[in-house]
Amino acid sequence: MKNILIAGAGLSGLTLAWRLRNKGYEVNILEAADKAGGRIQTVTLNGDTPVEMGATWFGEKHVNLLSLLGELGIGKFQQYDTGIALFESMSFVPAQHFDIPPAEEPTFRIQGGTSTIIHTLLEKIGSERLFLNTAVKRIEEQDGNLVAWDNHHREWKADAVVLTIPPRLLVNTVSFSPELPGQLSGIMQSTHTWMSESVKFGLAFETPYWRNNGYSGTVYSQAGPVVEMYDHCSFKGDAYALKGFLSGSVQHLDEAERKQQVMDQLKKLFGNNVPMNGDYIDRIWSREKFVHYPYDGYIIPHQNNGHSIYRQAFMNGKLWIAGTETAPAFPGYMDGAVTAANSIAGRL
Ligand SMILES: Cc1cc2nc3c(=O)[nH]c(=O)nc-3n(C[C@H](O)[C@H](O)[C@H](O)COP(=O)(O)OP(=O)(O)OC[C@H]3O[C@@H](n4cnc5c(N)ncnc54)[C@H](O)[C@@H]3O)c2cc1C
Repeated sequence: MKNILIAGAGLSGLTLAWRLRNKGYEVNILEAADKAGGRIQTVTLNGDTPVEMGATWFGEKHVNLLSLLGELGIGKFQQYDTGIALFESMSFVPAQHFDIPPAEEPTFRIQGGTSTIIHTLLEKIGSERLFLNTAVKRIEEQDGNLVAWDNHHREWKADAVVLTIPPRLLVNTVSFSPELPGQLSGIMQSTHTWMSESVKFGLAFETPYWRNNGYSGTVYSQAGPVVEMYDHCSFKGDAYALKGFLSGSVQHLDEAERKQQVMDQLKKLFGNNVPMNGDYIDRIWSREKFVHYPYDGYIIPHQNNGHSIYRQAFMNGKLWIAGTETAPAFPGYMDGAVTAANSIAGRL
């Protein structure tokens, strides 16, 4: 039986682990953070309102993700966009009302929240194979096998190692002996980690006051701090939330100040009757040390995502780099994470 070590318990690492377990492989998953999911993180506000701090939307074109959802029996539902959308061009000009024409392709969310995929995969794999708070620090090739060391100085021997860590973080936080080829290290240094600079917020409410007043909840703003916002009510329609992105300029404020600024903007957009009784949460992804590694200079979104070098295996065919940024199609997205896992599972 082959013994495979996977680093990272995000969508890519867990999909791969499940596929390999189904083939009869022995799999261990090392995860640096204190929980699985990586860039998929559903939190619960007001006790029962699921809000996505990470990945949320997908479409019909994301066929590998859709196929995984089918295999796992996880349902989807369409993003709510009925009603008036708002656009703020400047802070001192009232917001413009507009209708968004029906999308050619619908956008979907996961019933119960995106983390349902992570929890379902973990149930199937068995959590005894997942080691949390365990970061891979070094990988060495020894006598034809690979040996990995973690942050607790434990040694993990494996027939093959698959790293699903975002490439730029990987190349800056894990060492290798023998060293990786210079071309691979160079590409990893300049591979953009999708969405890791974003600031996301969610707000739960006791009533969907925007829907009740004819608004869709969709907002685009150049006046900020909210730059983009959407309805985020639950699949069953019994828990009410708004969710969106904040301008990076609010990062220096504390969370209470950011919440106040968001609420002030919502009052400006929807009127003073906005009920301020909801839980608020936000996440600054550039502070997530197991996802983001700061760039030395400007890097364009998706730079080197899906680069052909990620199709190769290293260390005599025993070391593989997976994770969404390596996928040839839809790299950066959930679909890319599944595609990368499927590809490695097929080739191992
Ligand atoms: C704010 C935000 C919004 C997004 N919105 C969407 C969306 O709407 N639709 C969409 O399709 N995609 C979206 N994405 C992208 C989506 O989340 C990712 O494509 C997907 O979750 C990546 O999965 P992954 O397993 O490849 O990587 P990750 O989820 O990044 O998982 C990598 C894992 O490796 C772990 N790790 C790091 N270092 C080590 C180490 N040394 N040892 C062991 N483990 C380590 C990390 O803790 C993490 O759990 C969004 C992402 C963010 C951040």
